[in-house]
Amino acid sequence: MKGRRYTPGVDFEYPAELAAFQAEVRAFFAEEMAPERTRGQRDPRDLTGYSEAFERALQRRAGERGYLGISVPREHGGGGRPLSYKAVFGFEAAYHDAPAIDTALTLVGSQVLGYADDRQRERYLPRMLAGEVLMSVAYTEPEAGSDLTRIQTSARREGGGFVIDGVKALVTGAHKSEYACLVARTDPDAPPRRGMSMFLVDLRGSGIRVERRETMNRWTLGEIHFESARVPGDALLGEWNRGWPQMAGSLLAERSGMAHMGWATRNLEILCAHARGTELGGRGEVRERLAALRCELATGLHFAKRVMWRQDRGEVPVHEASMAKVYATELLQRIARLGLELLGPEGTLYRGSPSAPYDGLFAWEAIERIHPTLSVGANELQRDAIARAGLSLPGDP
Ligand SMILES: Cc1cc2nc3c(=O)[nH]c(=O)nc-3n(C[C@H](O)[C@H](O)[C@H](O)COP(=O)(O)OP(=O)(O)OC[C@H]3O[C@@H](n4cnc5c(N)ncnc54)[C@H](O)[C@@H]3O)c2cc1C
Repeated sequence: MKGRRYTPGVDFEYPAELAAFQAEVRAFFAEEMAPERTRGQRDPRDLTGYSEAFERALQRRAGERGYLGISVPREHGGGGRPLSYKAVFGFEAAYHDAPAIDTALTLVGSQVLGYADDRQRERYLPRMLAGEVLMSVAYTEPEAGSDLTRIQTSARREGGGFVIDGVKALVTGAHKSEYACLVARTDPDAPPRRGMSMFLVDLRGSGIRVERRETMNRWTLGEIHFESARVPGDALLGEWNRGWPQMAGSLLAERSGMAHMGWATRNLEILCAHARGTELGGRGEVRERLAALRCELATGLHFAKRVMWRQDRGEVPVHEASMAKVYATELLQRIARLGLELLGPEGTLYRGSPSAPYDGLFAWEAIERIHPTLSVGANELQRDAIARAGLSLPGDP
């Protein structure tokens, strides 16, 4: 890969080129997310908080500038920059609350780049790079979450294609996605880890129904029902019955936690500005708690940057990524809690209430930051990974 790599100096500053990219992306999001652009574009039923039309338009503009595929190798049409560039893009998207985090490339890029054949790559990658398509990851099922060996959805060969039956649950963005990457049992007699295959399925096909399920913050996750759904032979992604190792590989790929740090940085900045602008800033206990969170923010950023740096060297930092995830997701909860305390009763007013401070941001955050400790690998499982890989402790017998 071309471009300078992120190397941790004594002061942990980014190299000049990466810092310049961050400044460019920051200016892009500041313009895209300016109040005059976002006015009237809200959609509380969507995780991003914005309408699908707004999200798609913004992703297309990010695609035009080459941001979505900034770290995709050049031979596949991307920018060929180190993964730190992608992480910095995620940080800025989160900081500006822009609907550009769960892009097709973020969610399904490693699967397509890792396992698609040439024809599949030609079909999907240009649209993913251009921000012209939305995709979902559909691994979870009602009875299979942390333990994905319990996946029951099945796919069997018929004619030149496959017939899929089953239900996928808690799928981010399913209602608006054109495609979902899923894993299904393809050999019911084999042990689960050797009897599953990965598919990239067009969700507009017959026998497929997406239902929206409301979360605590009123936006929806998708439940995808496959009822004898016929999909073509080229929906198979990668090798037959190799779905488990492919899924495991894609779950490890490219996690740095920088998006979490983008939200954390923004929220703490708002609270500090609030304290400076009110009498709260002079109160000892408030100052102490804000200062403590500032230390924690620096620690979380350090964890995330360490993951970035090792990814740039081509490594897969397993327990370091777990440390970054656990720390950032729990820090977000601590910041949200302090936000509610500092803002008092009005802080509990929800988005849209006329007197809600910061348009109900901290009421929303206090609820929203519950799920990241459960999703994308529950923090209990991440701690287990840290104990095994980071501390060399034995696992359960
Ligand atoms: C907001 C949100 C978005 C999501 N998006 C997607 C998506 O896009 N695609 C997708 O496929 N899935 C998605 N999920 C599903 C998510 O990945 C699962 O919720 C997660 O894997 C946990 O599975 P589960 O809900 O079945 O919980 P369970 O597996 O039942 O676990 C419940 C709790 O039990 C504990 N636990 C479980 N196993 C262990 C263990 N071995 N050791 C210690 N403690 C344990 C943990 O505390 C865990 O939180 C999403 C979930 C949420 C909340």
